[in-house]
Amino acid sequence: MALSFELSANPNPASEAERSAILENPGFGKHFTDHMAVATWTKDAGWHDGRVTAYGPISLMPSAAVLHYAQEIFEGLKAYRHADGSIWSFRPEANAQRMARSAARLALPVLPEEDFIASLRALVTADQAWVPEAPDGSEKSLYLRPFMYASEAFLGVRPANEVTFSVIASPAGAYFSGGLKPVTLWISQHYARAGAGGTGAAKCGGNYASSLAGQLEGIEHGCDQAVFLDAATQTFIEELGGMNLFFVTKDNRLLTPELTGSILEGVTRSSILDLGKELGLDPQEQRIEIEQWKDGVASGEIVEIFACGTAAVVTPVGELRWEGGSTPSTAGAAGGEITNAIRSRLLDIQYGRVEDTHGWLTQL
Ligand code: PMP
Repeated sequence: MALSFELSANPNPASEAERSAILENPGFGKHFTDHMAVATWTKDAGWHDGRVTAYGPISLMPSAAVLHYAQEIFEGLKAYRHADGSIWSFRPEANAQRMARSAARLALPVLPEEDFIASLRALVTADQAWVPEAPDGSEKSLYLRPFMYASEAFLGVRPANEVTFSVIASPAGAYFSGGLKPVTLWISQHYARAGAGGTGAAKCGGNYASSLAGQLEGIEHGCDQAVFLDAATQTFIEELGGMNLFFVTKDNRLLTPELTGSILEGVTRSSILDLGKELGLDPQEQRIEIEQWKDGVASGEIVEIFACGTAAVVTPVGELRWEGGSTPSTAGAAGGEITNAIRSRLLDIQYGRVEDTHGWLTQL
């Protein structure tokens, strides 16, 4: 039976003045809306007790399994306000399906796609005043963060018999408030993010914890983010800590590392593979060696590089650095022409400024 998420508690909402001030300049991941959606799963009863309640602290036993064994997964997508005031999300079924794949890998229960979407709709309906208006170019949205964790109070390594699913929401501004700025990347050679047979293709907290040491090493070398390579040979490019990578070649190929089981399959990545074709490029998923990046930039074979993900949409990639060397940027001051064309095309679809010919939008 489908879950229903009833509004069950009156929160202590932010005042209109407070909310307007936040929506004026939301930043990213700093402010949260008045409500959260919650549902419980038990081994005996399955999914039940869907509700929309006040956003606030959650009560967990210190023995809750998630705190010890990291049985946890999450998702990230956005709600966009169109010019007519209506609110839409972008391919939420793809996030529901990815969460189901993550759940299978982490031995968590699958939340059916219709319940996943019902939870988003219930939260966005309760918190619709928190979905910012997005006049052309402002790129504001409401970031939605569904997550699921082992809430059972139990010490022992086995799948939990009690699990909590929740969705929280955070108003988000443009990732780059001063216009697009290329990021400098660091090759993480001492730390892998994920390995063969591991959890790299799942969106679970542990992957992000394991990426932090590499990120920190990059920051110490003046970089914005780290590029992770395949753990076994440190030869092939995988992805960033929270974004997938694309390369544009001078003969119009659009290359991205193929999914190997240790890369997260981004919803933005798969959308760009489709859009690339429509923009006259030849998209290809393949193994790409880190040496191809260095050589390709040096020879002029690679003309643009960008990263992509829900939060920052499309981000131009500039210089690449590693212990003892670097490769110059191909991104200019604000990214190449193709990077910007793909970015605009995606935003135009998400904000309803062009017809949604792919059927990618779902009204919330
Ligand atoms: N890779 C990783 C590791 C990520 O965390 C994300 C963000 N979810 C992505 C890629 C991009 O995925 P998406 O386009 O679905 O946001």
